[in-house]
Amino acid sequence: MIGLLTRRNRELVAQLAWSPALLAFDFDGTLAPIVAARDDAAMRPTTLASFERVCELYPVAVISGRARADVRARLGRARPGYVIGNHGLEPGGDLRAFEAEIREVRPLLASALGALQGVDLEDKRYSLAIHFRQSRQKLEARAAIERAVTSLPRPMRLVPGKQVLNVVPLSAPDKGDALLALRAREGATTALYVGDDVTDEDVFRIDQPGRLLGVRIGRARGSLARYFLRDQGEIDTLLAWLCEFREDRPDGRARR
Ligand SMILES: [Mg+2]
Repeated sequence: MIGLLTRRNRELVAQLAWSPALLAFDFDGTLAPIVAARDDAAMRPTTLASFERVCELYPVAVISGRARADVRARLGRARPGYVIGNHGLEPGGDLRAFEAEIREVRPLLASALGALQGVDLEDKRYSLAIHFRQSRQKLEARAAIERAVTSLPRPMRLVPGKQVLNVVPLSAPDKGDALLALRAREGATTALYVGDDVTDEDVFRIDQPGRLLGVRIGRARGSLARYFLRDQGEIDTLLAWLCEFREDRPDGRARR
């Protein structure tokens, strides 16, 4: 992995800013810092100000694991062209079928996990998030959740996150599918994607050098992202660069 915000890579970010590019961002841990209570997640005022400007200058997508309405409510006055929820599946795909699958497995998981202290089942309509951040025995909680999901009568995709296990319909589009569809829809030659978690690897594993710039928050062994930001705080610098370079486009067009 290569640090993105180096003097050498300013040119790379500038090239991106001067080309027909789609910018896409995860929310938790990427635009907003990770917090203990997920309802409290919010962008810093500095991030929000730059992000609003980025949304005026570029086609932008926020692709989050949260339900779409939930993440949309956290974007303040910023107006990204696309807000995608539920790990890439909302909207898009056969939502009614996904909803039916979740309605079928939810009560089974609720009864299998009901007795576990500190485990919280979040229903996002088209997927479930089983949080164990509040558990005092995280390893045991995690193992019990995995057992409960793998013994469901219907196979589901299990996507690990930060002290959460997500349960997603097997045939649902993932974040990578969502990003490629949006890049095509925008007619963009290239896309930037920034994320911090296991579900973001669905984007990072797409091997299209020059057409997709994958950036992970935090360097991590095993990540397929080519670039990294050292920590979530660096998103402010990246957003500032993206504004600065696009406003100084050599062709003199300040806006897309
Ligand atoms: Mg995240």
